[in-house]
Amino acid sequence: MPIRWEQQYAQRVQGMKSSAIRELLKVTEQADTISFAGGLPAPEVFPIEQIAKAAQEVLQTRGSQALQYSATEGYYPLREWAAQQMVKRGVQASVDNILITTGSQQALDLLGKVLMNPGDKMLVEAPTYMGALQAWSCYNIDYVSQPSDDKGIIIEGLEKILQTQPKCMYILPTFQNPTGVTLTLERRKKLVELTQQYNIPVIEDDPYSQLNFEDEPVPPLITLAESEAEQNADGYQGNIIYLCTFSKVLAPGLRLGWIVAPAALISKLVQAKQGADLHTSTFDQFIAYKLVSDGLLEEHTPYICDTYRARRDLMLALMDEHFPPGINWTRPKGGMFLWVTLPEGMNSMDILKDAVEQKIIFVPGTSFYPYGEVKNTLRLNFSNASPGQIEQGIARLGRVLRKAIGK
Ligand code: PMP
Repeated sequence: MPIRWEQQYAQRVQGMKSSAIRELLKVTEQADTISFAGGLPAPEVFPIEQIAKAAQEVLQTRGSQALQYSATEGYYPLREWAAQQMVKRGVQASVDNILITTGSQQALDLLGKVLMNPGDKMLVEAPTYMGALQAWSCYNIDYVSQPSDDKGIIIEGLEKILQTQPKCMYILPTFQNPTGVTLTLERRKKLVELTQQYNIPVIEDDPYSQLNFEDEPVPPLITLAESEAEQNADGYQGNIIYLCTFSKVLAPGLRLGWIVAPAALISKLVQAKQGADLHTSTFDQFIAYKLVSDGLLEEHTPYICDTYRARRDLMLALMDEHFPPGINWTRPKGGMFLWVTLPEGMNSMDILKDAVEQKIIFVPGTSFYPYGEVKNTLRLNFSNASPGQIEQGIARLGRVLRKAIGK
């Protein structure tokens, strides 16, 4: 008798589901389909030549080290650089507070592994990042969600949830995925104050704040928390664990991110990471260090922002022109996504089916809610499609929506 593999799976993977949406989107990844679905950067903004030059130099000057196993914590100079970035943002981080991860996605998984028992409660804003829900799907945790609006997570009602002592909170305050919304300074302060009052650790996921198209930057929660909090025994101030990544400002294929956390928690995360992948690619870390220490980010990030700002502006203008009345959407000031709300009672999964026929795809909003509870929303990515594709794609989507709404 052949092995029935599905009967061999551990209980912990029961919560892992291949989403119907991902399956649908996979089928439609054809050349003539325009996609606003993925969370991909524009390939045109990858600094390919600079990466090639850095890789060449790393191989020529320190090839045997770059290709060798290395420390789980990460390449020391890169950790120092990350700590300095935090200091520049007003956070007293040192190398001991930094762990280099294989993208922020690994940081999410490691935090789930290290912090969450089955049945523990995680407080999230709704909607939230689908990849975090996926990362934690095998830890059998419970979610408590707090709604958000165009100013980010709603503070009213939050204290009541915090009184129930969730184990942890997860939040994306800046140019959020999926909504593109930024939490206001006033709400940030209140959120930090409340979570500190109730001693709740907060995971602040911040991959997009560098993609800032307009405003003066708002301070990350970790900065606000530090000025309010008493020092932990190891000198770390505040209750915020901060995640950042090179994916949006260099290239996601390098798979490089970092965690900022109290040194004791970093040690535990290091143990968890050892079991997962021993360490993040030495070669990629050397390349990234070479690039950042040569000042590439300062030079290159404004170019990425210019490109994305133009695409966002184009998409918004076309939505104004082509979308029927009764539909609302966010106007993000940075990041890669905007969020569309359809009239009550409409289901964006049905719209997607029609859209697929018109060769245009997006991600229905249900995937961004822990229990798929809201049906009438959808996410559009504006960074990846070319201006020509945005023009065609939004016109097609407008037709689909007008037909669905009957206007
Ligand atoms: N967090 C958020 C909110 C994201 O949007 C992403 C990328 N889609 C990640 C984490 C993971 O990024 P990476 O692993 O490439 O650093």
